[in-house]
Amino acid sequence: MSDLRLDATQLDRYSRHVIMDEIGPEGQQRLLEGSVLIVGAGGLGSPAIQYLAAAGVGRLGIVDDDVVERSNLQRQIVHGDDDVGRPKVDSAADYVAALNPDITVETHETRVTADTVADLVADYDIVLDASDNFATRYLLNDHCVLTETPLFHGAIYRFEGQLTSFTNERGGDEPRPCYRCIFSEAPEPGTVPDCATTGVLGVLPGTVGCIQATEVVKYLLGKGDLLEGRLLLYDAMDMSFEEVPVQPNPACPVCGDDPEIESVSDVAYEGTCEISAD
Ligand SMILES: [Zn+2]
Repeated sequence: MSDLRLDATQLDRYSRHVIMDEIGPEGQQRLLEGSVLIVGAGGLGSPAIQYLAAAGVGRLGIVDDDVVERSNLQRQIVHGDDDVGRPKVDSAADYVAALNPDITVETHETRVTADTVADLVADYDIVLDASDNFATRYLLNDHCVLTETPLFHGAIYRFEGQLTSFTNERGGDEPRPCYRCIFSEAPEPGTVPDCATTGVLGVLPGTVGCIQATEVVKYLLGKGDLLEGRLLLYDAMDMSFEEVPVQPNPACPVCGDDPEIESVSDVAYEGTCEISAD
């Protein structure tokens, strides 16, 4: 790859990347050729969309079926007051267009379901999970394991965040866990309240979504050590980061030695995301 592929405006826009040995014009070109599906344009999706667009990740797919509510604006910073009532995907696309015209945004105003996940993910290199529910989280994990698609996980709860990354590459020297290796099934419905019932510190998803975006940029550059096999726990109140090593589980229902899940149609992605009885 030659730096001649970056035009003068791009060399200017990305100059603080291009001057670094770890990135250079080749790395910037890799970012521009990258594509990421961001599932959720809310608290985690907002900073992820903003920084991936600013960094020049060339094609962003944004999935969300919600409209902007005023109570979102305390943390979902890709949307503004004038966007209340608009589809989140439209508001997010407008933000990206204003920030960086290099970026192609594809909006998907829909929910990710077992029926739609394959078509939604197929056009992208990477999935960034910025969803806010267990059904979507398990569905994305299972689909990305089965299709060997890299998946970048982040979740938030009140003052706490949780992060890890899955390249889902098979056959490496060191097997890596998937999300179900760590948490084989979702908690019982109703046992874990959502943001609307418990509240969430507004800046918390900013920190977590930025770390997810950092992992995606590193993955596209092929640089650094990802959070694979490591669960990062962030406590905003203590201002502490704790890292927990996580191992692949040979009994994992999707990536283990004798997996029960061979297709996302094998799972009821509601409630506890259990494997169907039939
Ligand atoms: Zn697994």
